[in-house]
Amino acid sequence: MSSLSPRHINGIGMTSQRTRDRLIERLQQQGISNTEVLRVMRNTPRHLFVDEALSHRAYEDTALPIGFRQTISQPYIVARMTQLILQPQTPSSVLEIGTGCGYQTAVLAQLVPQVYSVERIGALHLQAKKRLQALKYYNVECRHTDGKGGWPNLNYRFDRILMTAACSELPLKLLEQLNHQGSMIYPFDDGRQQMLMRVTRQHDDFKTESFEAVTFVPLLSGVS
Ligand code: SAH
Repeated sequence: MSSLSPRHINGIGMTSQRTRDRLIERLQQQGISNTEVLRVMRNTPRHLFVDEALSHRAYEDTALPIGFRQTISQPYIVARMTQLILQPQTPSSVLEIGTGCGYQTAVLAQLVPQVYSVERIGALHLQAKKRLQALKYYNVECRHTDGKGGWPNLNYRFDRILMTAACSELPLKLLEQLNHQGSMIYPFDDGRQQMLMRVTRQHDDFKTESFEAVTFVPLLSGVS
C-alpha cells in the first residue's frame, strides 16, 4: 500500500460515500452526537483497513477479522470510545494499546495532535504502520511492544490512554504513564462480562466509572 489513488480512497459501490453516509446515520441513531467524531468517521476509508475480500462489508456496523485471530473494532465502539477520549476537552496526546489494523489510530490522528500506538503482533504492527504512512497520518508513532508496559523508556505522561483489548487486571505501568487529570478508557473483563470503563487520575487517587457492555479480544502478554 505504498501509493493510494483518490479512487481507492474515495471508494466505489459498497465502499462509496453513500454507503459510508448510511453508517454515520446509524451511529447518530445509536446516540453518537459529537459532530467532529462523526465527520472524521465519515471521511476515514475503513475499507482500506481490512482485507480486499472484506471491503464490501467495511461500512457495516460490525467487527471484522484482520488475521492473527484479531479484529477491527465495530464502528459504533470506535465512535463511542473516541467520544470519551475527547471529554472533557481534546487531549494533546493519546496512547493506544492494540494498534491492530490501525483504524482507531487513524480516527484519533485526525482529532488529537499526537497519537502513540503499540501492538504486540509484529506483522500487524508493520502493516498498520505502512498503511498509516500511506494515508499520510504523520502525527502517529507506532511501536511493536507489549502494551502492558506502556510506551517504552518514557519520560513523558499521556493525557489519555485507550486500550482496545480487554484486560482482567489494570496494568499498573499504564496508570503511571497517565498525566494528572488524565484518563484511561478500557474494556474490563470480570470473568462474566466485559464492560467499557474509564479511570481518571486525580493526583495519586483514581476514580473509575463504568459505561456499557462490550466485546473485545483479550489483552495478552508478550510479543509475537
Ligand atoms: N484498535 C484496533 C483494534 C484491534 S483488536 C482497531 O482499530 O480496530 C486489539 C489489538 O490489541 C489486537 O491487534 C491485539 O494483537 C492487540 N493486543 C492485545 N494485547 C496486547 C498487548 N498486551 N499489547 C499490545 N497490543 C495488544
